[in-house]
Amino acid sequence: MFDRHRVPVLLCGLGLTSCHGNAGPAPVTRDSAKVARETADESWKQPWNVSFDARPDEKVAITMNIAGGIDVPLVLGGAVGEFVEDAEVNGRKLEKNATSFDVPECKKACTIRYVFAHGRAATAIGDTDTASRGPGFTWVNGPLLLLHPMHGDPRTNIEIHLSKDIVTPLPSISESEPNVVRVNLLDVERIPYIFFGMGARMVSRDKMTVRAVVPKPFASRPEEMDRWIARSMDIVGSYYGHFPMGPVALGLVPEPGDETRFGLTRPGVGAAIVIYLGEKMKLEDDWVLVHEMIHLGFPTLPREYRWIEEGLATYIEPLAKSRVGVQTEAAAWADLAAHMPLGVVPKGSPSLGGTRHGAWRRMYWGGAIVMMLTDLEIRKRTENKLGLEDALRAVLDAGGNDGEHWTLEQVVQAMERVVPKGWLLEWFKHHHESAATFDLDAIWKRMGVRIDGKNVTFDDRAPEAAFRREISRSRRN
Ligand SMILES: [Zn+2]
Repeated sequence: MFDRHRVPVLLCGLGLTSCHGNAGPAPVTRDSAKVARETADESWKQPWNVSFDARPDEKVAITMNIAGGIDVPLVLGGAVGEFVEDAEVNGRKLEKNATSFDVPECKKACTIRYVFAHGRAATAIGDTDTASRGPGFTWVNGPLLLLHPMHGDPRTNIEIHLSKDIVTPLPSISESEPNVVRVNLLDVERIPYIFFGMGARMVSRDKMTVRAVVPKPFASRPEEMDRWIARSMDIVGSYYGHFPMGPVALGLVPEPGDETRFGLTRPGVGAAIVIYLGEKMKLEDDWVLVHEMIHLGFPTLPREYRWIEEGLATYIEPLAKSRVGVQTEAAAWADLAAHMPLGVVPKGSPSLGGTRHGAWRRMYWGGAIVMMLTDLEIRKRTENKLGLEDALRAVLDAGGNDGEHWTLEQVVQAMERVVPKGWLLEWFKHHHESAATFDLDAIWKRMGVRIDGKNVTFDDRAPEAAFRREISRSRRN
């Protein structure tokens, strides 16, 4: 047996990176967009025509044709000048190692060319969040390598023609041209990762696509990989009613052994997921991909509410599996019963909102207990007609996927479109400010969950047994 939630502490706990979060800061260009929208300058509407040509030396040659012109400097989103080579505009050489390009030529039509050494960047930076590598491929945060203005116009799109072996989470402009992707000028800052060096395996559900970068040794098991990804999409899609967000670019990094070490989701325009997957992992035992995909269906909250995001994914993962029959109801509850004690703290401990970043057990499992209590409370208030998933589907219906930054108030407002009003905000705030000092035995008794070692049996005469059955039974969309 492996300890399933030992995994994230390795990186998240050290504060090197997080298991989940948005690509870069929220774009600062939104306000300027309003101003630009009021100007009558139609030239903004012309899309930028960009090509990415991957080279065998782990470099990408980038050509940008800006037909409509732009009259502000263009920048790269980080101190990455040392990885930029041979930059020029209309044939004029640009300063070496610059990350901010002053290009007066571009007031009219211009062509900018430069080479980005993504291999050197991935090795030098070596941070999962920003730029790193797996065997035979690298990934780089989009704004780090794609020149863009600090201020732009929402009517301007960039169309990127991708050569072979480049994978992005950006939408294709059409089914017939999958290698031409589009991003709004304002959203360049939100491109999570671009993968170089390998083509993608494509798996689609609900018109959403996962583009998976599958290196050796996984590449020798293509059908198994596709099945695992499709099944994970089905599990998550069945909980939310449909797969919540796409396209997803998924990078798999092999790790020795039979455990998954770590997973990370970066939402933005589409989403990117990187999983450090055990080479000998039995994929049906994996929980990380489902966990990461559950994050896609819920907005990004202010950082202090991370316990809600992690609590949701942690609580839902085993239950969503039991609903589609991937595991039994008893196995789902046994899993929750075995791990939830990790979330319980003694009196006088920090509140859930004040839980330190490194105290991931408390944050994940304390959060999971609150989500279970929220599920029960919704059922109590609706005579078991609605549950947590209905509240979450309402959030998703209101546009609250992982690429959006919402406040807790916005989340509650969306939930209250379906669940009874007037208590949820106070409920979440109360738990945010309280320590997770729960009496789990009493909760299990109420729900009729009897724990016997690693197994559970059910007492259907318990007062909340009907809630428990509804929570974990299979359900049509
Ligand atoms: Zn997570």
